[in-house]
Amino acid sequence: MELYYTSTRNREVRVTASQAILQGLSEDGGLFVPESIPAMEVPMEELAQMSYQQVAYQVMSRFFTDFTEEELKSCIDRAYDEKFDTEEIAPLVKAEGAYYLELFHGATIAFKDMALSILPHLMTTSARKNHAEHEIVILTATSGDTGKAALAGFADVPGTKIIVFYPENGVSPIQKKQMVTQKGDNTYVVAIRGNFDDAQTGVKKIFNDKAMGERLAAAGYQFSSANSINIGRLIPQVVYYVYAYSRLLKNGEVAPGDQINVDVPTGNFGNILAAYYAKQMGLPIAKLICASNENKVLFDFFRTGTYDRNRKFVLTSSPSMDILISSNLERLIYRLAGEDDQANRQLMEELGTTGTYAISAKMREKLEDFYGNYASEEETAEQIRQLYEDTGYVIDTHTAVAARVYGKYLEETKDSTKTLIASTASPFKFIRSVLSAIDGKYADMEDFAQVEELSRIANVPVPKAIQEIRTAPVLHNTVVDVEEMPAIVEKILKVSQK
Ligand SMILES: *Cc1c(COP(=O)(O)O)cnc(C)c1O
Repeated sequence: MELYYTSTRNREVRVTASQAILQGLSEDGGLFVPESIPAMEVPMEELAQMSYQQVAYQVMSRFFTDFTEEELKSCIDRAYDEKFDTEEIAPLVKAEGAYYLELFHGATIAFKDMALSILPHLMTTSARKNHAEHEIVILTATSGDTGKAALAGFADVPGTKIIVFYPENGVSPIQKKQMVTQKGDNTYVVAIRGNFDDAQTGVKKIFNDKAMGERLAAAGYQFSSANSINIGRLIPQVVYYVYAYSRLLKNGEVAPGDQINVDVPTGNFGNILAAYYAKQMGLPIAKLICASNENKVLFDFFRTGTYDRNRKFVLTSSPSMDILISSNLERLIYRLAGEDDQANRQLMEELGTTGTYAISAKMREKLEDFYGNYASEEETAEQIRQLYEDTGYVIDTHTAVAARVYGKYLEETKDSTKTLIASTASPFKFIRSVLSAIDGKYADMEDFAQVEELSRIANVPVPKAIQEIRTAPVLHNTVVDVEEMPAIVEKILKVSQK
């Protein structure tokens, strides 16, 4: 059966999966959502016998119905290959009663690789299918991990260019080094004087600038987005929840039909929304635990029903979650509103003008699948140290936020349901914060000495992604003000400004 996509702000919109992937964002400013969530008809016992790539096909073919089997399998095979340092692609590690789903074994050692290694292939295939004549320009705002993963995914992919904006002082030193050393003739990296929300708002403005869009079209370009608002990123993320459950079953950790909880360190709400979609497909998920750092907009939202971005932006040791506007939440709001596009549009407009909105009591009732909480900076550091001392397992700062929130959930509920924790980055990526949490004595150690030390104490080899940037030259050094973002895009693309 053909599955179409509509916009969260206009139900009259009806496009195929490939059109939604190509466009990124709907013209009305809404996000593309499937008209319904398909059921995962394949029995879990069968999925348990499949490889990651095979499970990926089973999940994605139900969402991307206008791709042929050959097209989709080719995208999957080109994405989930030796770029990952383990054949399992997303291995599970059991520690202190929880199951850590390690989503950081790809090219840039953060979970963004799970989706961004396939998106370029989905996108170029979509362009071919729709006879798009224009070269695709990927425009992306990043809080650190998306940018590098997108750059790695799109570098030297024919028919594409990629421009990444990151907050000059809002990413970790390793994240920055990874981006500014990016190779590829079609890659551009620009720092902005502002925070991640400024960068994201700036990119959205460029997308919505019709006049600029026309100038670009005349020059042979069309914009698309690699941000987690693209449906081509969201759906590949559903895969690893299905896969993880199938491995728990295969390993005898759960019996057929047993429920599990899923706990996700959350920023833009993409990863946890994918888990929500997996639940809607029929995966036996009980609670979706939404973990925030000190930028706890989502915790407050789950507690009060009011979303309020009017607050101080906090720079934390988990920068990929330093976000006050969680874009993907719009897809959940739309569902909570009973797929009412006008109701959703109104709330999003309120968010745009006042920075806040409140959902109705009826919508709040439907939030009971979710549990929200947050971890402070001290709690996050303490979690890393304690888990390491008790088990020898070292987790990164983002994963630690989720682990600490799981602890709070257990204290509050005594719920003994088995719980999967999304482990979203390698500890090597946030090494300074991770090692300082374990012991103050590491604070003065130089960067690459820290790398050796972490490898030794955690007993894991240094990831290739870290080895590579040690000696790589800086290739990108542009810094601009937020207001200059449109101009720099036109300069990079050599589009004349009139
Ligand atoms: C992006 C990111 C997150 C947040 O994921 P969302 O899908 O934006 O909620 C968490 N941890 C890490 C390491 C990330 O890179």
